[in-house]
Amino acid sequence: MSAGPTILAVGELLVEFVSHQKGCGLEKISPYTGPYPSGAPAIFLDQAALWGARTMMFGAVGDDGFGRSLVGRLERDDVGIAGISVHPHLTTGTAFVSYYENGSRDFIFHLENTAADHFVFSPDLLPEGDLILHVSGSSLGSKRLRPQIMAAVEAVASRGGRICCDPNARPEIMRDEEGRAALDTIIAQSFCLMPSIGDLDFLYPGLGESAAINRLLERSAELVVVKRGAEGASVISRGQRHDIAPHGVNEIDPTGAGDGFCGAFVALLAQACPAEEAAILANAAGALSVTRRGPMEGNASPAEVQDFLAAQAGAGALS
Ligand code: ATP
Ligand code: MG
Repeated sequence: MSAGPTILAVGELLVEFVSHQKGCGLEKISPYTGPYPSGAPAIFLDQAALWGARTMMFGAVGDDGFGRSLVGRLERDDVGIAGISVHPHLTTGTAFVSYYENGSRDFIFHLENTAADHFVFSPDLLPEGDLILHVSGSSLGSKRLRPQIMAAVEAVASRGGRICCDPNARPEIMRDEEGRAALDTIIAQSFCLMPSIGDLDFLYPGLGESAAINRLLERSAELVVVKRGAEGASVISRGQRHDIAPHGVNEIDPTGAGDGFCGAFVALLAQACPAEEAAILANAAGALSVTRRGPMEGNASPAEVQDFLAAQAGAGALS
């Protein structure tokens, strides 16, 4: 385990059910599998732990099988779970996802009045030493969770910790102006921002990619990583830009690739890895992630990613 900063994540913990049938939305009867451990902050942190970072998750689950499977999985992967509370009466949050042939998807999130949105942040649980707190914009859609996340950001910043953010602006969740305003406040404090192309358009509608990235760099971001799905990724700092080519893979389930990408990237940065190298490894982790069903199931260890990169290089040499 690294001697670098402890990486924290705060937000929704949930289990997810994934439809195996494409094109039927959430209206039709279809075989689903689950409960898969999920929640953007949890997927992020699980991947960061697999990449050797010291981690601590802040969130809540119910006293039920879903919650136990989720916490058990995080524990197995060495995620610090001391910041997870178990609500005695409310159930664990859930989500359902169904895909279309063109890669788009429908979600139903059930977070309101679950343990997930009744989490209460306590600064007393923050660990000693250097801290990096990750926020996923998806968490800010919940009215109850939002002030808890803002409290965590303030507590970490007041201790000299750094904030990183994946805007992850899910339209199903980000319905009100206050959620947007909270996201804006966090973006303004983040040293590292990891938007997808869709997030850039959500943040700065119609502005265009490079102007949107420049806006982010004019604020406090030292690094902007743009996630491009099957088109790879780019890492941009003031004066430098590296485009990372995508890997050709068979996409089974794209949900969670972005969170896993960010988890690997931030874990590597925290261990003093240069940003370009971190993005190359995160890009491979993201590609591997979409080949497996289940949002957290795609998270891979450094050894798996190195094997994947070696196989891709071999395939490239043969073609
Ligand atoms: P989500 O919010 O659903 O977790 P995202 O939109 O934040 O995802 P993506 O851009 O979909 O993030 O995926 C993150 C990264 O994973 C991409 O930048 C790329 O490196 C890799 N990746 C994702 N999908 C594919 C794919 N089909 N083929 C190759 N690489 C992929
Ligand atoms: Mg995303």
